[in-house]
Amino acid sequence: MSTIDSLPPLRDVINTHELRAKKSLGQNFLLDLNLTAKIARQAGDLTECDVLEIGPGPGGLTRGLLAEGARRVLAVEKDARCLPALAEIEAAYPGKLDVINADALELDPSDRLSAPIRVVANLPYNVGTELLVRWLTPKEWPPFWQSLTLMFQKEVAERIVAKPGSKAYGRLAILAQWRADARIAMTLPPEAFTPAPKIHSAVVHLTRRDTPLYPADGAVLSRVVASAFNQRRKMLRASLKGVAPNIEDRLIAAGIKPTERAEQVSLEQFCALAREVARG
Ligand code: SAM
Repeated sequence: MSTIDSLPPLRDVINTHELRAKKSLGQNFLLDLNLTAKIARQAGDLTECDVLEIGPGPGGLTRGLLAEGARRVLAVEKDARCLPALAEIEAAYPGKLDVINADALELDPSDRLSAPIRVVANLPYNVGTELLVRWLTPKEWPPFWQSLTLMFQKEVAERIVAKPGSKAYGRLAILAQWRADARIAMTLPPEAFTPAPKIHSAVVHLTRRDTPLYPADGAVLSRVVASAFNQRRKMLRASLKGVAPNIEDRLIAAGIKPTERAEQVSLEQFCALAREVARG
């Protein structure tokens, strides 16, 4: 019998520890261990990796990660009610799992892990997006992580992988695709979760690029892209007016028509524009 079989089913775990889902913590749990193992597999080969899991809850995905052979899992959970359930998993996998009771937005535990590090999380969507942006914009690149495998609302997942010309294309797509290879690994219906949310979800897998796809200063690129998409229906010569003097000339030098809208501009063109803007 494998170790995972010696642990009680997740439904029993939730009952025993009275883990009634809290809306305020975005708790929609995954109880099907076949599914959590499948999600863990989307993160790639874990056997040589440390995994940072954010929001383990009762531990369904944690069990998936350990069953898939993760070298070590460090899990950060805000809800102290989940700790006894996670302690049972720790006991079943001696030396493999460490749990920290903390808010992941306030604690960065990356220095407690050894490379290569993969991040895996099924988080409340707002927390997930905020952490994704932080993980994509560290002070120094490459970041501490090798890959991110994150559950999102399907609509947010589509924004992360969107291409120019689509409605979903915007800041998140540019930020993610400039520094990572991003793809939707799987989609999940509401019934996959307990309680079921109203919307579909999707797992996005991002593999970092050691060097961003095109040269640009990250801060300048962020500023240009934010201005361009804040007024996405306007022509770029208008939406980017405040970004730098002579913006029309800079747009042309970057190979972009000043009358174009942000939605039409490729990542390569935005990077070229960021370089033009950075000239001062
Ligand atoms: N990973 C579990 C699963 O798949 O069944 C739980 C997923 S549930 C959608 C989100 C989890 O993140 C909850 O356990 C919740 O308590 C935790 N959480 C919410 N906000 C958090 C934060 N800021 N830091 C750490 N954990 C958080």
